[in-house]
Amino acid sequence: MQRSLTPGGTAEEPTKWIPSDSYIFDYSTGDHMIDVICGARPNFMKVDPIIKNTDPSVEIRLIHTGQHYDHIMSQSFFDDLDLPRPDVNLEVGSASITEQTATIMQRYENVFLERRPKAIVVVGDVNSTLACALVAVRYGVPIIHVEAGLRSFDRHMPEEINRVLTDQIANLLLITSTEARDNLLAEGRQSEMIKLVGNPMIDTLLRLLPSAMDSGSPPPDEPYALVTLHRPSNVDNPERLGAVLDALGNLEGLRILFPAHPRTLRNMDEWNLNIPERLSIVKPMSYLDFIRCEVDASVVITDSGGVQEETSVLGVPCVTVRTSTERPVTLEIGTNVLCPDTSLIPEAAAKQIASRPDSPPVIPMWDGKSGKRIAAAIENYTGGTR
Ligand code: UDP
Repeated sequence: MQRSLTPGGTAEEPTKWIPSDSYIFDYSTGDHMIDVICGARPNFMKVDPIIKNTDPSVEIRLIHTGQHYDHIMSQSFFDDLDLPRPDVNLEVGSASITEQTATIMQRYENVFLERRPKAIVVVGDVNSTLACALVAVRYGVPIIHVEAGLRSFDRHMPEEINRVLTDQIANLLLITSTEARDNLLAEGRQSEMIKLVGNPMIDTLLRLLPSAMDSGSPPPDEPYALVTLHRPSNVDNPERLGAVLDALGNLEGLRILFPAHPRTLRNMDEWNLNIPERLSIVKPMSYLDFIRCEVDASVVITDSGGVQEETSVLGVPCVTVRTSTERPVTLEIGTNVLCPDTSLIPEAAAKQIASRPDSPPVIPMWDGKSGKRIAAAIENYTGGTR
């Protein structure tokens, strides 16, 4: 493996690692197989269009780390999306971030050494993303990061750490929107490693929207807000989570449908928090049911990254209960607004509802064709079956 280093970086021009051509194609012990990694709920809709658009002559080994393992957080997506069964399940389960990352690394290394892929594809920003990338980089196997370059600039978020570190060691950086390129360049990544491919999660949304409208469970027949919350900053502190629940109880004229993440449910139970009367707290929903409910919601209140994107494409008003977002395009088009102050959530929701767009906005390359572009970029980079 050869690498060249641009020595003597400065603040303006940081030191850059440049993979040489020989590095890209130096997988001498490698196979013609590509590992595609998934592990948690938001990964499944991102790997689906990659797998479905990759030429059948390219062998894919689908690795599920088992970071999410409940039927409703994992298998139900394989069913709804018609995703192939994973070739390997590392069955890591719940644990602290450190233990989960370390266990995935250990277990993936075993699988990896049994049969070494010629490249690995990681998506998003979950612990599985970074853990598997760390294994591949140790063996000089190229890493392709899909959804690279998103930045909240909030390093308290575990996902931000996963994003920054994965992007530092990835060899091909596939981005969903233009600001990601600036973020990556500012961190010293090379322009020629970066390719705008659009948003694969939106491929899955657009593909399954008709099925969701046909077969998703019908939403409430009165105006409602759909709520999802699972970020540690909102749900890992009883005062904060209690304040969010109180604010939701103050939303005028809306029923609140809250499919709560297992982590959020566990904390609400443990702290015995007061649940305002108009809140219907239910288990996490299947993908089709959730999309169905997103479409008809008066407003969506969330701290999810993917939900900010989906509501933007659907033209559904969204309030994000966070200080920052790594998806600024959703703010620019106006479907989404940040509202970290819980007491202001009802006001922000009312404003968003009043300014609902007449038709869904168009975001460049969020067009249902990202899977094709990603598959082409991967094949181009790895040389297909060569
Ligand atoms: N989602 C779902 N059921 C739910 C809540 C969310 O299917 O009850 C889907 C949602 O449509 C989106 C994805 O889960 O596609 C977002 O995942 P999550 O919020 O867990 O992760 P993030 O996007 O914040 O990383």
